[in-house]
Amino acid sequence: MAKYKIIYDRDACIGALGCLGVTEELWELADDGKVNLKGAVFNEETQKWELIIDENDFDIARASEDACPVQAIKVEKVED
Ligand code: SF4
Repeated sequence: MAKYKIIYDRDACIGALGCLGVTEELWELADDGKVNLKGAVFNEETQKWELIIDENDFDIARASEDACPVQAIKVEKVED
């Protein structure tokens, strides 16, 4: 089963909540008005949050990527 990585640039997030509107499974509202990517790990090198998902969650991940007005969310394939 293919694996994907969601890469979330929390610094770029403006709290527009488009992502949360389409996929509450992945995102939760934080106290500062931005969102957190549930279960994500912070990558010190890139300073972004990352979460590995399988293809079952690909559609909702892409929906949140499309919903973000500042391109703070990216989804890329990591394994076939
Ligand atoms: S849609 Fe983008 S800017 Fe809006 S809360 Fe989600 S990550 Fe942040």
